Amino acid sequence: MDRQQEFVLRTIEERDVRFVRLWFTDVVGSLKSVALAPAEVEGAFSEGLGFDGSSIEGLSRISESDMLLKPDPSTFQILPWRGEDEPTSRMFCDVLTPDQEPAAGDPRHVLRRQLDQAAEMGFTVYTHPEVEFYLLDSEQPDAHGQLHPADRAGYFDHLTGSVSQDLRRHTVNMLEAVGISVEFSHNEVGPGQNEIDLRYADALTMADNIMTFRTIVKEVALQHGKFATFMPKPFSEHPGSAMHTHFSLFEGDSNAFYAPNAEFNLSTTARQFIAGVLLHAPEITAVTNQFVNSYKRLWGGGEAPSHVSWGHNNRSALMRVPLYKPTKGGSARIEFRGIDSAANPYLAYAAVIGAGLKGIREGYELGEAVTEDVWALTTAERKALGINPLPGTLHEALRQMEESELVAEILGEQLFEIFLRNKRQEWDAYRVNVSPFEVSQYLGAV
Ligand code: GLU
Ligand code: MG
Ligand code: MG
Repeated sequence: MDRQQEFVLRTIEERDVRFVRLWFTDVVGSLKSVALAPAEVEGAFSEGLGFDGSSIEGLSRISESDMLLKPDPSTFQILPWRGEDEPTSRMFCDVLTPDQEPAAGDPRHVLRRQLDQAAEMGFTVYTHPEVEFYLLDSEQPDAHGQLHPADRAGYFDHLTGSVSQDLRRHTVNMLEAVGISVEFSHNEVGPGQNEIDLRYADALTMADNIMTFRTIVKEVALQHGKFATFMPKPFSEHPGSAMHTHFSLFEGDSNAFYAPNAEFNLSTTARQFIAGVLLHAPEITAVTNQFVNSYKRLWGGGEAPSHVSWGHNNRSALMRVPLYKPTKGGSARIEFRGIDSAANPYLAYAAVIGAGLKGIREGYELGEAVTEDVWALTTAERKALGINPLPGTLHEALRQMEESELVAEILGEQLFEIFLRNKRQEWDAYRVNVSPFEVSQYLGAV
């Protein structure tokens, strides 16, 4: 047993922890949890906890359903929202086959594999997400089918006595209690829309943190009698919810994206990474924007990127060098604005990092930064500038993804197939659905 495992067992005893939840995610990024009695934890560390993997979406085939959960002791935390009475804790798990090999369908493993490749190239990957979400009065629409945002606040509004403010404060306190640092939080543009930005961490820790974050936001909202949703675009008339993510690569202690005297202080490595993500952006979009509804955000305005470009102070760009000012301090990062708040963070990060690493490995050239407002250009102008659209629907995104050797390699053949199958089913269910829009447009008109 290693020291981290010993620490967990000791803490369980000292704090009289009653339940140890083992957490992992399925292919779409839904959190899965099984509660373990404290006496079973030692066995889970040494042999893993057996479960039926075929009942978890995307994890395994029915003929190889026995899987093991192996808790990662570095992720042990007491869950503050369960209270002091009978303390409950959690650990994230890696999913293993009965031979103790990583399970091909485990999203955490998919991300770890990309990070191992980055490590072989000498890099550690850090990410910093800005997570947007809506707070609603209730999950249920009213009798007219309307959802009600919890407040009317807009961007950076300060409303006295606003429920969002209390809720964000409570959420931030709880996040910090489980070791997740928050940089800032504010009302976003839409009514009831909020944003919380997490302090950067290595990409695997951050993907775990995002899963914890979503759980905490939902728990706190419920405690305040509200409902929180990470749905990419819950309202046609208001902006969608993005999970912009800032990426940086470090070589030891030094930022590999930074170069003094270069344009925006971006090193060749940074430029190649951006070029990789841009070139492969249409292929990875089904992963970063995985739902039918994701495309309503990408194409519904509200500052969401709909075309492939990069820039500096340009919110219409898919990738942006944020708040750039020449520095001597050696800091540089790039913001990818495509990912939405409902993405599976493990797979979405693996896809972006995999595309960026390919750019570095193969020495891609980065084109000019775009200074124009991409949304305001005509199609012909965009064409002249070489600015291509992102996929317009989940269907189109899947078509691009299924042609992609890169995405097959990043996800692994098995998860790649399962992902495509799962998402085609979603598209098929959607495309036969007659929407209120169609009824209002055509019923009387024809
Ligand atoms: N909510 C916008 C989106 O869907 C982003 C707004 C912002 O720039 O923070 O991408
Ligand atoms: Mg925002
Ligand atoms: Mg942003």
